[in-house]
Formats: sequence, structure tokens, C-alpha cells
Amino acid sequence: MTGKNAVKIVGQAVIEKKMFLTDLDQAIGDGDHGINMARGFESVLQKTEVLPDDTDISSILKTVGMGLISSVGGASGPLYGTAFLRAAGPCKDKTNIDANTAKAMLDAAIKGIQDRGKAQKGEKTMLDALIPASEAFAEGIKADKTLLECLSSAVQAAQDGVEYTKTIIATKGRASYLAERSIGHQDPGATSATIMLTALYNYIK
Ligand code: ADP
Ligand code: MG
Ligand code: MG
Repeated sequence: MTGKNAVKIVGQAVIEKKMFLTDLDQAIGDGDHGINMARGFESVLQKTEVLPDDTDISSILKTVGMGLISSVGGASGPLYGTAFLRAAGPCKDKTNIDANTAKAMLDAAIKGIQDRGKAQKGEKTMLDALIPASEAFAEGIKADKTLLECLSSAVQAAQDGVEYTKTIIATKGRASYLAERSIGHQDPGATSATIMLTALYNYIK
């Protein structure tokens, strides 16, 4: 298990879902979320592929963040890019990631997305997967669960969050132009965030 492999698995999962994510964005946006994310991770994987296998997780995350920012034009590039850059903070100089560190990384990522995009929970964005994931993670830590158990609850909460985005109006990003017509559609960004968390869970499991 290495940071480099984890990124490879997560990146491949996103690339595999390119058409699905693009179809979702076709319904309530401009139909490029899958294209944006696949382009971003193809560029990122080229950059991480050449790093030594034992490169520390914090450095890998920085490479991912900068790679996404420089290769993705849409809103999701700078938002996810900032998320990965910020997640690199709490794991700096750590060789082993425990549940508390993982939670701190997730929260730093969320804070980065909010600093940039100014969205809150309930605005039909990627945060509607990530914030419930963080809350579920916190519950897991409180109940003395293992990292893997916490991550499993986080994935479940993120999936529920995606379902929840179908019921609400978008008030941030392009989907907000549709107002009530965005109801009934799941948010592409909440979906890609959940794809990433799920791939990470399956890799660690
Ligand atoms: P664009 O909208 O520029 O075409 P993408 O299609 O790649 O970019 O990404 C759209 C996704 O970005 C949305 O589904 C939503 O989850 C997310 N998003 C948009 N604006 C924000 C924001 N202000 N905060 C958090 N996420 C956002
Ligand atoms: Mg789009
Ligand atoms: Mg776009």
C-alpha cells in the first residue's frame, strides 16, 4: 500500500466514470465534468507515475493538487486541486495515517473547497458528499472504530449525500442557473467525490 498506488486507483476510478460524470453534468451543467476530471487525472497520473514508489503521501497529494489545478479548466479543477493540496498538510512527515489524521486531512480538504468556492452544505455540490462523509468519520472515531471502519461509514454517508443532492436546488456553480429544474438530478461533483472515496476504501480494504 503506497500513496502512489492509492492515487493510481483513485485516478483510474474517476477516468473509468468519465462518460457517467459527463452525462450527469449534461443534465444540469455544461456536460464536461467527466471530461474535466478524466483529463485532470490523466495528467496527474503521468506526474505521479515517475515518482519513486516510496514517495510520502503528503508529497503525492501536493503533486495531485497542483496537477489538477494546472490541467482542469472547469470549477472542479481549482476546487479539487485545493482540496488535495490542503489534505497534504495534516499528513506531512507522517509515515502511518491513523483515523485522526485521515479525518484531519478530509476536513482540511473541505475547508479548502469552502475557502475557494464559498459553498455550504445543502447547495448541491461536492460538499454534500464530503461534509456528511466527514461527519460520519467523526462518529466513527468517537465510537473507537478503526480507520477502515470510519472510511466505510464515510463512503456510505457520501453515497447518501449524492442521493440527497437529487432532492435539492443548486445554488452554486452552473447548475444554479437551472434553479428548480436542477431537482431530480444528482450533482456531478458530489458523485465524483463519492467515486474517489469509494475507490480509496476499496484500495485500503
Ligand atoms: P464547470 O461547472 O465549470 O463546468 P465541472 O463540471 O467540472 O465544472 O464541475 C461541476 C461541479 O463542481 C458541480 O457538480 C459541483 O459539485 C462543483 N461545484 C461547482 N461550484 C462549486 C462551489 N462553489 N463549491 C463547491 N463545489 C462546486
Ligand atoms: Mg461542467
Ligand atoms: Mg465547464
